[in-house]
Amino acid sequence: VKILVINAGSSSVKYTVIESDTNESVLTGAVSDIGQPGSVADHVEAFAKVLDSVGDVSAIAGVGHRVVHGGERFVQPVVITTEVENHISTLSALAPLHNPANLAGIRAARAVLPGIPQVAVFDTAFHSTLGPQAHTMAIPQELAKPLGIRKYGFHGTSHGYVSRIASEMLGGNPTEHRVITLHLGNGSSVAAVKGGVCIDTSMGFTPLAGLVMGTRPGDVDPSVITHLLRTTELSLDDVDDLLNTGSGLLALAGTHDFREVTSRALAGDASASLALDVWAWRIHHYIGAYTALLGGLDALVFTGGIGENSAVGRTMATADLTFMGIDLDDVANAVVSSEPRVISSPGTSVTVMVIPTNEELEIARQSAQVLTRAR
Ligand code: AMP
Repeated sequence: VKILVINAGSSSVKYTVIESDTNESVLTGAVSDIGQPGSVADHVEAFAKVLDSVGDVSAIAGVGHRVVHGGERFVQPVVITTEVENHISTLSALAPLHNPANLAGIRAARAVLPGIPQVAVFDTAFHSTLGPQAHTMAIPQELAKPLGIRKYGFHGTSHGYVSRIASEMLGGNPTEHRVITLHLGNGSSVAAVKGGVCIDTSMGFTPLAGLVMGTRPGDVDPSVITHLLRTTELSLDDVDDLLNTGSGLLALAGTHDFREVTSRALAGDASASLALDVWAWRIHHYIGAYTALLGGLDALVFTGGIGENSAVGRTMATADLTFMGIDLDDVANAVVSSEPRVISSPGTSVTVMVIPTNEELEIARQSAQVLTRAR
């Protein structure tokens, strides 16, 4: 059977048709320039274009939607009902940039393909296994609880997918595997996975926390924000913008594009060098912290646009960690490939891997599972 995977974002709708028996992607594309990201009418228009290129829909057994925020309730993929839609809508308060567009995509798909079941797969779900010591924020709980303030984590579909493949590549008993997954792209996050179960991750209440990203700073002392509000002319919305779109590599190096940052650094640009140093230092923090939380480390996995493609980025992210058993084989690291591969030196205790992520495939796999169960 075929699953149509829909990633309805704020500026585009990406789609992939996956043959779920063979895991093959048979068609992929995107419709850009959505008028109003939260508008169902605009998404219906986009979805009609998606169906134009899909052609015959009779073999489509279900539509799998990427939904960014599942809150505390959605810890598994679910078949979408009106009640599920309404709950995703309430969660828009926690993900104002993403959930409204995801929801408009769902409503459009249902309007255009009324007879075909729709499944929601949540970016937060893989992190729902975090214990209270990992997800509780140490602020007054009478404020936090009713507002749903806690760590949720994101990129879960990617971390789940690559950690599962890493476990297969490691062999042996998967319940014993201690794996750190680094999803490094425009948005970046890291997860600590023990026996296939996520125990911590670097993004938090929103996708702002953790690693230094293309345009987001990752972890900052919260009082920087109150200080900016108190001492500058910046409004709350300005600061929100600054943290989401004006920080990270862009703020330090003048570009959010990692390729550009590394080439400028190589050409002697001091601010680009500093940006890379700050970026790599933060990754070192998390590798150390998560190795402690996992009680040791068996595999370190790179994925995402930077993790999959930048040998320089991987070298910087793991520099001087030989004492922890992390050591790259320079020849293997330099290989350009779209296949999962090992890049650590033979004989080191930590297997370092590059595993290209495939969120569409994972959404299709999970959607097919849910639909089989529902049948
Ligand atoms: P993503 O958000 O996962 O698509 O990743 C985007 C990031 O990956 C951008 O910063 C790109 O510069 C970076 N990237 C993509 N391809 C390469 C490459 N071949 N070498 C270095 N960085 C790359």
